[in-house]
Amino acid sequence: MKDMRKFYINGEWVDPKEGTDLEVINPSTEEAIAVISLGGKADAEAAISAAKAAFPSWSNSTKAERIELLEAILDVYKKRSDEMGATISDEMGAPISMSQTAQSGAGAGHIKAFIHALKDYEFERPLRENAPNDRILHEPIGVCGLITPWNWPMNQIALKVIPAIGTGCTSILKPSELSPLSAMLFTEILHEAGVPKGVYNLVNGDGPGVGTTLSGHKDVDMISFTGSTRAGSAITKNAADSVKRVCLELGGKGANIVFADADEKAVKRGVIHCFNNTGQSCNAPTRMLVERSRYDQAVEEARGLAEATAVDVASNEGRHIGPLVSQMQFDKVQNLIEVGIKEDKARLVAGGLGRPDGMNRGYFVRPTVFADCTNDMRICQEEIFGPVLSMMPFDSEEEAIAIANDTDYGLTNYIQTTDGEKANRVARQMRTGMVDINGQSRSSGAPFGGYKQSGNGREGGPWGLEEFLEVKAVGGWTPEG
Ligand code: NAD
Repeated sequence: MKDMRKFYINGEWVDPKEGTDLEVINPSTEEAIAVISLGGKADAEAAISAAKAAFPSWSNSTKAERIELLEAILDVYKKRSDEMGATISDEMGAPISMSQTAQSGAGAGHIKAFIHALKDYEFERPLRENAPNDRILHEPIGVCGLITPWNWPMNQIALKVIPAIGTGCTSILKPSELSPLSAMLFTEILHEAGVPKGVYNLVNGDGPGVGTTLSGHKDVDMISFTGSTRAGSAITKNAADSVKRVCLELGGKGANIVFADADEKAVKRGVIHCFNNTGQSCNAPTRMLVERSRYDQAVEEARGLAEATAVDVASNEGRHIGPLVSQMQFDKVQNLIEVGIKEDKARLVAGGLGRPDGMNRGYFVRPTVFADCTNDMRICQEEIFGPVLSMMPFDSEEEAIAIANDTDYGLTNYIQTTDGEKANRVARQMRTGMVDINGQSRSSGAPFGGYKQSGNGREGGPWGLEEFLEVKAVGGWTPEG
């Protein structure tokens, strides 16, 4: 078992001041693969001081220097990309083939996209042409606390650490205690690429410990958080006394509206997307709304696809899905499947309680489909975060829009139809930060974020840079030239 108890503070790996041990469990085998330390207040404060001390110099770096550093990070990241895929797979159970492409690749993709965004970004600009003495300056906000989840660990970490570095901020990363190993590997990559001392720091810990110290500390100017709506709300309350900026990327309960005129692969695409990463994606299309004339056929198709979805240990190559991340997540998903069965309105057409046949170890669950759901059911309102699809019929465009929007969440909705005008019309009505039409996902650099209880942040592209920037308006500026 690897000893991974150190933290990275002020450019060095250091021993915890007040840590307690936590084993990192491989969810396919339920065996411990490493031990980390959950830091305490003193550890978080040491990292905050280092970040604060590094800010005056890093905030005055040039854009060209920061781009050069991000390019160096990208080079080292690419060299260690397979190692990253394997690490993520071991710690959170993403199947190795998918982990080495989608999971690990997300990190490199975001680094590249932010380099592009940064090249185009004007940190200083005139207010408008006829106001030559007004200048708008975009300046780094300061010391940033970055708190991330375990489900797409490199995706989330890159979406925060890279723009923080790129805008001239300094930061402390607290990754999920369930997926700390990929974060530590990422830290090695940053170190090798030459990130200056104190500009980036890592302290492992849990929410009540390191997380709360970061969100409440007066020297932390901003928290960028991705995770559950519950934790996002707790962070916002704890941050209120110090009036810091809090950017939140939270849960979702995506609707996938399949109109009768959708292309023939629409249902298949939706089911596969829902089960991808074992259903552990904030933007998973977990509610499938199907126009009534196509509904029975869609339910049969979904049943067949769920039954054909292979479940296997994460280290095996191939296109199966892996286990859930933890015993806690396994219990939560089992509980919600049971709720769905007991609510007695929906019809269980595939999967159900327990592990797949022949598996008696690991946090594996059965790909599950409920049909004939009504949107008021708990399985249609709560984020299950497992491979569980809830299907329901609809009769009109208006009804589909109303059902899709009838949720506290507002992250991503999906529309399937061959009628382009209808797709655009419905997309405008969606109360979500993102809409994907006919399986076409957004291009790199598009903003990622939600409406309502899915959060208030936008990550990626210029929006992702601006989360880390303050705006200063200067009058009486002497125009150049
Ligand atoms: P979580 O909220 O339990 O934990 C996320 C992180 O917050 C962890 O690092 C955890 O230690 C920390 N944390 C927990 N309580 C805290 C507190 N009170 N103060 C400070 N930090 C605290 O979420 P999770 O189970 O790790 O991740 C799954 C959730 O993340 C799902 O709800 C999912 O939808 C959401 N998510 C959202 C997005 C998005 O971009 N919108 C992306 C991925 C995941």
